[in-house]
Amino acid sequence: MIIDHSKLLGLANRIVTAGGSSPTEAAIVAEHLVEANLRGHDSHGVGMLVAYVRDLDAGTLKINQTPEVVSDTGTISVWDARAGYGQVVARQAVEWAIEAARKHGVAVNGLRNAHHIGRVGTYGEIAARAGMVALHFVNVASGSPGVAPFRGREGRFLTNPVCIAIPGTDNNEPILLDFATSRVALGKVRVAHNAGKPMLDGALLDYAGQPTTDPSVMYTDPRGVVLPFGEHKGSGLALVCELLAGAIVGSPSVTTSTPPERGIINGMLSIVIDPIRLSTRDSMMAEIDDMISWVKSAKPAEQDLPVLIAGEPERLARAARIAKGIEIDDTTWGQLADIAQRYQIRIDS
Ligand code: NAD
Repeated sequence: MIIDHSKLLGLANRIVTAGGSSPTEAAIVAEHLVEANLRGHDSHGVGMLVAYVRDLDAGTLKINQTPEVVSDTGTISVWDARAGYGQVVARQAVEWAIEAARKHGVAVNGLRNAHHIGRVGTYGEIAARAGMVALHFVNVASGSPGVAPFRGREGRFLTNPVCIAIPGTDNNEPILLDFATSRVALGKVRVAHNAGKPMLDGALLDYAGQPTTDPSVMYTDPRGVVLPFGEHKGSGLALVCELLAGAIVGSPSVTTSTPPERGIINGMLSIVIDPIRLSTRDSMMAEIDDMISWVKSAKPAEQDLPVLIAGEPERLARAARIAKGIEIDDTTWGQLADIAQRYQIRIDS
């Protein structure tokens, strides 16, 4: 079904509020989820509420948390999110890093033990809109790993995303590179499974190690695996994301004892740089504009598929979905309706 984003926002807000969150927490989480849907990343949209309610019930997602500041030198800080809503604490961490980078030129934050932080691009975008360059490396420590290393047929990682954001100019929006290091985010397998649709070629192996497009292989026991993107390159990036956001930040990693009842836990290493400490604003902006024009001037290999810059597909999706609404598959809608019934809240606005 197609639902207007404002209705979805209301429903998400009511569900998070019914879980006990403060109005501020509910508003941040709901907006984050619906923004992910608007940007075409349904894997990280309102469908995640099913997992959040499961983790709330299990006590592995804690509401209304204030992060513990483990250390803070002014330019480097480490925060423990105490399994609070990741959307709230990761936003606070990047806001801290932006202010620290404004003062000192660069800031590093290590975020431990956040419940799912969602679409990592959210944080890169906040930094880029504040004129900063941001690099975010994320690990996922949530029970059984579903992503195989290059040449492997057994899971050793989860989807360990990376995000790099470059500020926009007077003529161009920020560049926002933001993706899972797996061929597809696991949530996209969930969305395809719920919708009864096949996955793209080259994303999955079944439990016997055979290539398949059937998303249900991730829901069998024994289950299949998602492959890393870009063969050894994505696999290497998955490993360093795991180590940067896990071992180096001090957050649980995929090898830490992570029973499924841990819920979805993310660690994140964020590096925020004020780029005017490296060059002048005018020369930087002119070079960014030149480079974007240069890249986009390449003739398309397929006539109807123009060259895009990272961040552009999400902006195009957002404009289309604001205008036409957001498609939610029947299974996901049914799951949200079950939650609404259980919490005795309205499903429609
Ligand atoms: P994806 O494969 O759709 O890639 C998205 C990136 O590629 C974006 O930067 C986008 O602008 C760019 N892009 C897409 N098409 C393009 C084109 N034609 N030309 C140029 N650039 C293009 O994303 P994904 O790997 O499915 O990840 C989806 C989301 O899931 C991300 O927001 C990620 O942060 C999030 N995620 C979160 C977690 C977590 O644990 N919190 C884990 C994995 C993924």
